[in-house]
Amino acid sequence: MSIDKDRLFLEMALVEAEQALKENTYPVGAVIVDENFNLISTGRNRVHPAKDVTAHAEIDAIRNAGNAIFNAKIKREKFTIYTSLEPCPMCTGGILFANIKRVVWLLNDDLGFGGYKKIKDSKVFDERFNLVEMIEEPYEDLKNRQKDLMSKWAINPNNVINLRNAIK
Ligand SMILES: [Zn+2]
Repeated sequence: MSIDKDRLFLEMALVEAEQALKENTYPVGAVIVDENFNLISTGRNRVHPAKDVTAHAEIDAIRNAGNAIFNAKIKREKFTIYTSLEPCPMCTGGILFANIKRVVWLLNDDLGFGGYKKIKDSKVFDERFNLVEMIEEPYEDLKNRQKDLMSKWAINPNNVINLRNAIK
């Protein structure tokens, strides 16, 4: 049952990622649901439109969840965050602070700023990470859609490499 719901919400995260790319920013989207798979919030990268380097999709979704995050912490409800790309170190921290209990992402980011697995593997915060279920790259076709968005981002004028080249 949860498998199909995972797919549904990952597709929703991809729609957010597509919207981010349309807004000329990094194509990552995120969705938070409660333990009964009710939608709590959505988020997407807003770094370039907001001129805010911390405006990542997962942080955006956590902010948009507002008081629901606090209520879930108090009631020990198990929220899930779906994201189209492996969370970076900042978002990994945000996810732990939000007490989210399940993290599902479409594409690993070993070569980019993927941080979740690196920090988890360091064992430094084992007590926290052991409480969080992690699911990486569950759907090949959706993973490829995220890869496709990333390759489009590589040629976007706002990509920092392209911005650098533009001032040479
Ligand atoms: Zn991040």
